[in-house]
Amino acid sequence: MIPGPTPVPEKVLQALGRHPIGHRTKEFQELVESTTKNLQWLHQTQNDVLTITGSGTAAMEAGIVSTLSRGDKVICGENGKFGERWVKVAKEFGLEVIEIHSEWGTPLNPEEFKKILEEDKKKEIKAVILTHSETSTGVINDLKTISSYIRKHNIALSIIDCVTSLGACNVPVDEWQLDIVASGSQKGYMIPPGLSFIAISQKAWKAAEKSNLPKFYLNLKSYKKSLLSNSNPYTPAVNLVFALDEALKMMREEGLENIFLRHNKHKLAMSQAVKALNLKLFADEKFLSPSITAINTETMDAEEFRKTIKNNFDILLAGGQDHLKGKIFRVGHLGYVNDRDIITVISAISKTLLDLGKITTKEAGEALLVASKNLK
Ligand SMILES: *Cc1c(COP(=O)(O)O)cnc(C)c1O
Repeated sequence: MIPGPTPVPEKVLQALGRHPIGHRTKEFQELVESTTKNLQWLHQTQNDVLTITGSGTAAMEAGIVSTLSRGDKVICGENGKFGERWVKVAKEFGLEVIEIHSEWGTPLNPEEFKKILEEDKKKEIKAVILTHSETSTGVINDLKTISSYIRKHNIALSIIDCVTSLGACNVPVDEWQLDIVASGSQKGYMIPPGLSFIAISQKAWKAAEKSNLPKFYLNLKSYKKSLLSNSNPYTPAVNLVFALDEALKMMREEGLENIFLRHNKHKLAMSQAVKALNLKLFADEKFLSPSITAINTETMDAEEFRKTIKNNFDILLAGGQDHLKGKIFRVGHLGYVNDRDIITVISAISKTLLDLGKITTKEAGEALLVASKNLK
């Protein structure tokens, strides 16, 4: 139960085991056509959705290098490990970065984006880069509000890391007019790592015409050109595309609303159980990610706690990153996760706390009760 790689359904695993086919065949083109349509459905968009072979970071980097130019001014929102990564990428490519910070565990403040964008009368800011669901802290940022401020600016593109929000909660790409939305296969998609996805708007394609940052493999224009014939510029991870096809079919069967409801109830069950167990949520409770719950262990060593749960129950939980190592642990509930998984992980955490003498059976019972109330 880590926030990626996430569990993979049997059907999807079986699709992976097929013999690979030529990526220039009609059969593969048909697959690209249908997965692209289903990806547009998942993103709630008419925009192009490109599939590249590479992890989520490749998708974000592709979005940046394909649309921006040397010396461009960008805003980067940073309230966790991934936000920090996009600051590094932007700087690596020589962009002039204005950072908007928020303490890890708290959301970015949309008003700070508004202020800087409004003050940019010369329209020098070319993009706003941020992470929707910050996996390192379990915080979801208010993308809806921030994107409305980006639109008012009119020039800046939005380049959004939706790696742990897409396929977990509502990310209506067209309604919010998001320009670049990046996601990765090993998160909400229920398939192994290796593919990533980029939804890209007409406005972003216009910017791509003028972009002069160095790029080759990650030049999205090549992917767009190939997609016109349902093809790929380079050899894609063919078997992962088989898996993608199956996974997207399963998602369509479940339906977007149901997928969002499922993630929401698991988020509520987890967060309420955590409180009943006298543990502290690391993230601001009004901004909990649908995909990950980060738990503050305070006096306990979170790494020891994680190890005990792995040894006793064979459940892998994620640790804290950087300065949070040993201080928090994180439960991933993204993708192919059901009520049983949630009840099991809560029970495993409760039993471990009982053994450590941190709680009594009263709290353990209460945690299961509040969790079950949400699992209907
Ligand atoms: C997993 C993840 C990524 C992508 O990381 P990769 O290891 O490159 O797949 C990006 N952003 C967030 C928020 C993530 O959780």
